[in-house]
Amino acid sequence: MKYLLILLLVLVVIWAVKRGRAPKSPPTPSKPEASTPSEMVTCAQCGLHLPQDEAVSGQKGLYCSTDHRAAAHDRNPV
Ligand SMILES: [Zn+2]
Repeated sequence: MKYLLILLLVLVVIWAVKRGRAPKSPPTPSKPEASTPSEMVTCAQCGLHLPQDEAVSGQKGLYCSTDHRAAAHDRNPV
């Protein structure tokens, strides 16, 4: 009977420890990053970061302007 009480005490202690370690609040949700309007791309000529919808596309990559596309000796793929 004595061992049974000790076993019960150990189980209560384990339960208390697990309960104490349990997070009191739900895990924080990830930060909303959907605020960015469009994906950022890098100019293949000067390395400037700009939104993808403002980038000028070439056969070798994306550029910040038609001048840089021409400077890279690239042309419009269309
Ligand atoms: Zn550029």
